[in-house]
Amino acid sequence: MVLTRVAWIGRLTGPKGDIAEKIISQVAPVFSEVQFTIVGGPISDEYQSKLGDNVTLTGFVKDVNEIFKQNDLVIGAGRVPVEAMRFGLPVIAVGENRYVGPVNEETIAIAKATNFGDCDRLTAWDVQQLIDDLSAIVSGETIFPLEQYAEFVDDYRLDHVYPQVMDVYRQACIDAALRRFREIPVLTYHRVLQQAPQGSKFNVYVAAAELDQQIANLKQRGFEFVTFKDIADGARPKKPVILTFDDGYEDNYLNLLPLLKKHQAKTVVYALADRSLINNHWDMAKGEPEAALMSDAQLLECHQSGLVEIGSHGLRHQHLPELTDDEARQEITDSKQVLETLLGDEVVSFAYPYGDYEDREAELVREAGYCFGVATVSGPIKMTDDLMRVRRITMFPNTSKSKFWKKTSGWYLRYCKLKKKDF
Ligand SMILES: [Zn+2]
Repeated sequence: MVLTRVAWIGRLTGPKGDIAEKIISQVAPVFSEVQFTIVGGPISDEYQSKLGDNVTLTGFVKDVNEIFKQNDLVIGAGRVPVEAMRFGLPVIAVGENRYVGPVNEETIAIAKATNFGDCDRLTAWDVQQLIDDLSAIVSGETIFPLEQYAEFVDDYRLDHVYPQVMDVYRQACIDAALRRFREIPVLTYHRVLQQAPQGSKFNVYVAAAELDQQIANLKQRGFEFVTFKDIADGARPKKPVILTFDDGYEDNYLNLLPLLKKHQAKTVVYALADRSLINNHWDMAKGEPEAALMSDAQLLECHQSGLVEIGSHGLRHQHLPELTDDEARQEITDSKQVLETLLGDEVVSFAYPYGDYEDREAELVREAGYCFGVATVSGPIKMTDDLMRVRRITMFPNTSKSKFWKKTSGWYLRYCKLKKKDF
């Protein structure tokens, strides 16, 4: 086939970023007549400096179909190949853990079993394989069975069955990534402030300087800052820690995001999907000072930094068990859709407001297609025992160094259980 435009789609961090780097620095120079488009972010100077004349970086893109329209071939893993194949484009599958190659009758089974290369035991591959495969395509030796592609991806039925089918693959990925950890520290924070607030009753803040030290300390101890989205996308961290911030306060944008950029650390922020809400009305009703929530633009900027997973905290910060079935379903399902539309990305985790949920809520979260339901001080100690009841460790202001170490030690929850303490 005539190959003039090739797109790679992924994110430019972690193992996916390594693949992009190989394409930019080793593959593109071999095919000077082909234009390569690298779709994804965040774009660092390191990537910019390696670009040849035939490579373009687009950053994060909202409309992937536009990319499909402009290219002859797509390279990617996870959901990218499925979408490209539905679009009728030839695909080379290469993911974080395996090189699958051109998708055809022979490779489709392994492609599906490994989520197009993302979920598998790590299998080393040589960039020469990709170069050889592209050469075979250019010379006409490799022909893609495009007429069969619709059938290959029929299982997925992206529009409606996709979440359930992908769920099976994803569950396997998540389980493989996390089951070996008896306890993963998932920390709960709320506001991030330069100064202690006046008249706060609930202590739902941390000082930026203190958080700065805590992040530095975790880095020093070799922790990897991951998000639930990373895990759902196939990340396999060796020593994970997950920092979460509830409610989506504006101070997270002002004070947390700069810290994340400074340390290149990642976090999860749980935002409310009723975008008309501007403050913490639920706490103000109990006498807590007003705190502004992030605007759409601020939320989007956090998301696009590549350092913040935006999760859902429901529409309006309600006690879900008090709602009717329909109302509870709306809070959980509609909030996912609203945030996904705003961000142009999938929302994979839901944090129960007040950590308040029962079996019904956990089931609704699963039904809505989230991979993780995140609680506060309930749920099993081992995360993979129940992904709809992820237990977190509550953080308070002015935590001593030894207390912080204890809370992130990897045995804290077991210790609390022995002591019959909540957290
Ligand atoms: Zn909350």
